Amino acid sequence: MKEFPEYRVGIGSDLHRFSPGRPLFLGGVEIPGEPGLLGHSDGDALLHAFCDACLGAAGKEDIGSLFPDTDPAWKDLDSKRIARVVRRILEEEGWTLVNLDAVLECETPKIVPWRERIREGTAQVFGIEPSRVHLKGKTAEGLGPVGRGEALRVTAVALLAR
Ligand code: MG
Repeated sequence: MKEFPEYRVGIGSDLHRFSPGRPLFLGGVEIPGEPGLLGHSDGDALLHAFCDACLGAAGKEDIGSLFPDTDPAWKDLDSKRIARVVRRILEEEGWTLVNLDAVLECETPKIVPWRERIREGTAQVFGIEPSRVHLKGKTAEGLGPVGRGEALRVTAVALLAR
C-alpha cells in the first residue's frame, strides 16, 4: 500500500426525527416498511454524518453550510448527491478516504439484518471497498428521544490520508 505522510480524522453526528409516510434511507439504501426521517433532504442521517466526518477531517465547512436547508434547491435532495459533492472535494484536495465507522442509535429498525446492504451502499457512494465501511447498531435503552422511538442518531468518524 502507498505510504501516506499525512492523516486526518474527522467526526460527524446527526439526529433526525422519524416521520411516518416518508421512505427510510440509510447509507443511500431504502429500508422498506419503516418510517422515514424528517429532513430538508431525504433525511439520510448516516450519509450526512459520514459527509460531515469527511469534511471535518479535510478542514472544510460542514454540509449545513454547503447545502443550507433554507435553499429550496436542496428540498428532498437525494443525500447520495451530497456525498458525491463531498467525494469530489476530497479528490480535489488529494485526499484518499481510508475508512468510515459509525454508531447508529435507534429503537427500530434493527440494523443487523440491513448492515451489509448499508455498508455496500455507503461504500459505493464514497467509491471505497465495503470492508472500509463499518456500522454498529445500538438502542438507547428507552432514554431520550431516541429511546422513545422518536428519532435516530448517528455518530461517525472518517480517516483521510494523502
Ligand atoms: Mg441530517
